[in-house]
Amino acid sequence: MSHFSYHDGDLFAEKTPLSDIARQFGTPTYVYSKAALLENFSAYNDACKRHSSNENSSLVCYSVKSNSNLAVLNLLARAGSGFDIVSGGELLRVIAAGGDPRKVIFSGVGKSRDEMRLALQHDILCFNVESIPELHRLNDVAGALGKRAAVSLRVNPNVDAKTHPYISTGLKENKFGVAYEDALLAYRTAADLPHLDVVGIDCHIGSQLLDDAPLLEALDKVIELVDQLDSEGISLHHLDIGGGIGITYDDETPVAVGDYLGRLFARINAWRNEKYQGAPIKVLFEPGRSIVGNAGILLTEVQYLKHGASKNFAVVDAAMNDLMRPAMYQAWHGVQPVAQRGSPAQTYDVVGPVCESGDWLARSRSLAIEADDLLAIMSAGAYGMTMASNYNTRGRAAEIMVDGDRMHLVRRREQAADLFALESIPD
Ligand SMILES: *Cc1c(COP(=O)(O)O)cnc(C)c1O
Repeated sequence: MSHFSYHDGDLFAEKTPLSDIARQFGTPTYVYSKAALLENFSAYNDACKRHSSNENSSLVCYSVKSNSNLAVLNLLARAGSGFDIVSGGELLRVIAAGGDPRKVIFSGVGKSRDEMRLALQHDILCFNVESIPELHRLNDVAGALGKRAAVSLRVNPNVDAKTHPYISTGLKENKFGVAYEDALLAYRTAADLPHLDVVGIDCHIGSQLLDDAPLLEALDKVIELVDQLDSEGISLHHLDIGGGIGITYDDETPVAVGDYLGRLFARINAWRNEKYQGAPIKVLFEPGRSIVGNAGILLTEVQYLKHGASKNFAVVDAAMNDLMRPAMYQAWHGVQPVAQRGSPAQTYDVVGPVCESGDWLARSRSLAIEADDLLAIMSAGAYGMTMASNYNTRGRAAEIMVDGDRMHLVRRREQAADLFALESIPD
């Protein structure tokens, strides 16, 4: 069920009119629905509980990079979520939001020594290591601290996720993970390093997958490796199948999360019972987009309507610096007028004020709008605010979390002075 819907021609977030939010907090503004966030998280968490033997045999680790606002992280932490991070900064966010570092897994190809130290000091659950040089560096850093680092290797199962090339990560030519053929060698290396504990295996083949077939194919390859490792005396405690299912931006029909997890656990449980007499091998997930994507919109105001010779433009006050996805991936986002009008619709490109031709949010949309109208850019909760920049010295948007008829400002709008506060002029 969508938590953004029309009532008497006005678009609401839960029980809050979006026009009230614009009046009180201005635009552009990201608006998140608390109920939608919790519902989306529960789709994973409930399925995990349903299919796992006990509550310690699975863990949902929300992917922080999809939306890292402290209020979002806090809400999910209280719902029992762990976290998948890709930087030291994200770890500090999780901690500031009240998340438990012992439920944190650390992904990414380029972890620095400082980031490793920080994560070790906070006793995170596991490092998802992506190369042999990273194993050696982590071993050194852990040794110097007198600690042991729990590691999982990110293997690249060479499965085609059939998604956008920029968000496909499981093919041989990608920079991510250890090649499937090199995985055994990498595991042997890890097992021989004195300050590492080899605990898991993970893979993440891409984002916005609508079908679970590639994920189940990746799982089969991961299972095969776990068995090979077991026969060599390297026994793993968890497997991590990476990010979540895709979402509906336009007319996509992604597989239901519960169905996907049902098939995945059926496969895993059958294997566990057959090979390991049901020994608990924990299952981890790293969903991001499917938890926050459809739980957020970007609220913007039409500044000008430009009727050109071959095209009409709706120039709005949000831009590529606020929502990068269209410029970066040619991504499609729905555009809904906040107040429905009876007047005839015209076709517009919805564009921002930034000085780039790539600065567009939507193309060729039929909209009945006038200057000063409010628009909602839909499905903008994931990879929206976290990818925002200050290009053109534009302060980043405010963020609001709606809870029923209440609105909470969870990040104030950046002011111009915030943007140059860290700069200085040499004498
Ligand atoms: C980005 C990312 C995720 C989240 O993917 P979604 O498609 O947003 O669920 C999970 N794991 C890793 C390693 C990632 O880089």
